[in-house]
Amino acid sequence: MKMKITILDYLEDIEKKYPQKVAYSELKNEYTFKQITYLSKVVGSNIIKMGKEKTPIMIYMRKSIKCIAAFFGTLYAGGVYCPIDVEMPIERVSHIYNVLNPQVIICDDDLVEQAKRKWGDTCICITIDELLCGFLDIDSIEKVKKEICSLDLMYVLFTSGSTGMPKGVAISHKAAVDFAEWISEKYGFVYSDSLCNQAPLYFDASIPDVLIPAVSGATAYFPPKMYYSFPKKVLAYVEEKKITTLIWVPSALRTVIDCHAFETCVPNSVKRIIFCGEVFPSKYLKEWKKFIPDALYVNMYGPTETTYACTYYDIHEDFDVNENIPLGKACENCKIILLDEKDEETKPNVVGEICVVGDCLSSGYYNDDEKTNNSFGRNPLNKNWYERMYRTGDLAYRDENNILHFVGRKDFQIKKMGYRIELGEIETIINAHEKISTACCLYDPENQKIILLYKGEIGETELKSYIDNSLLQYMRPDKLIKLDQIPLNPNGKIDRVYLKKEYMR
Ligand code: AMP
Repeated sequence: MKMKITILDYLEDIEKKYPQKVAYSELKNEYTFKQITYLSKVVGSNIIKMGKEKTPIMIYMRKSIKCIAAFFGTLYAGGVYCPIDVEMPIERVSHIYNVLNPQVIICDDDLVEQAKRKWGDTCICITIDELLCGFLDIDSIEKVKKEICSLDLMYVLFTSGSTGMPKGVAISHKAAVDFAEWISEKYGFVYSDSLCNQAPLYFDASIPDVLIPAVSGATAYFPPKMYYSFPKKVLAYVEEKKITTLIWVPSALRTVIDCHAFETCVPNSVKRIIFCGEVFPSKYLKEWKKFIPDALYVNMYGPTETTYACTYYDIHEDFDVNENIPLGKACENCKIILLDEKDEETKPNVVGEICVVGDCLSSGYYNDDEKTNNSFGRNPLNKNWYERMYRTGDLAYRDENNILHFVGRKDFQIKKMGYRIELGEIETIINAHEKISTACCLYDPENQKIILLYKGEIGETELKSYIDNSLLQYMRPDKLIKLDQIPLNPNGKIDRVYLKKEYMR
């Protein structure tokens, strides 16, 4: 049996099995497994021909299935790809450029001139179409591919982090393949399955949509981004394509309910709904279950540093609106340890920091040893040998049944007048109110005030009386601010960095 080292090994196997099956599809274009494999090899051949094999490559493209050819093409050239949000301010892209030091930038046609002006002196800026038009050089592809080891890097994703300064999370082939195999097997993905991509390709929530087709033969559909602003359109698309699986961030699932999208269409092909990235209030889960009761709902948890997810919880019961959905247990081949402030393991029902050990771990922050050493280090519980561990900065506890429950970010835990308070706990209670669509709490330490920002069809007096009845006095927000929209960051999560800047002056 041939050892599988990279996702390309899976892709080539699937291509042999289902050459004519559609692998990636968008409104005006689609690639079968045969086409995506061929095109990726062509892209790889041309990168090698430019003498840029085994280098970091920036993908400066809007979301399209051509990005997948750019990703896999980079891998065929033994390189590491880094997708960029082309809408982010150019200074931020420059920061990423300086950290990544790419040798090639693969661009959309209309972005290549801009890239050349900015970086053309130090790096090759080329369009994806130019790369796709070149020739296939199978010998050089095979030679480079043979030299790839599983610990070589596959991709780098820059995440904003709480400070707002992007850090490049580097993921190895091993970590990605480990995750892709686990999720495909655990949830029984096969060639007749289909996914509907929601997350941007520069965000790790899109990793399953990119990898699962290569492992299982499933098709990943990429509807236009604007469909997600009109959830009725997305649902109609899901129905039309008979999509079986949604792997979305909670805010996308919430919008479907807030916009009453199920009133016009209930896609009954959907049988798995997986969400990850932030808390999904149980109130919204209840609503989804009303319309799609027979699907399997799964709460996954994990920072980008653990390759999409390191825990999962298959939901088989109903939750009360003010209960959080559990994080569940560790994914296969991964260990979750909860550590207290003294680096000792916590007892059941006691909160500790979620620390992760396993192949899912990132190799560290690209070109940043200092930040890497701050978050990745030795597991203090293993006295026998050096075991690498990542400290997530998230808090959780284990119940008597060994099930993990999310408590909040370490930096959401505040001290107010001596009381230790979880802002996440306040949010959960407020989110439980039927007239609240989103609640977000901030803490202003200088003035010792909790600020609640919320969106919902509720008057302030009604909300205040609900808060008085449901929250302990020291947990009650000091200031209530109603917003028409809660701003989301490019990853689709509540943009707390922006809200802090705007509302805590
Ligand atoms: P990112 O690296 O952008 O994917 O963000 C990771 C962070 O999102 C984690 O450290 C958690 O704080 C949060 N997160 C991810 N999944 C969940 C979840 N299922 N429930 C609550 N928070 C989550």
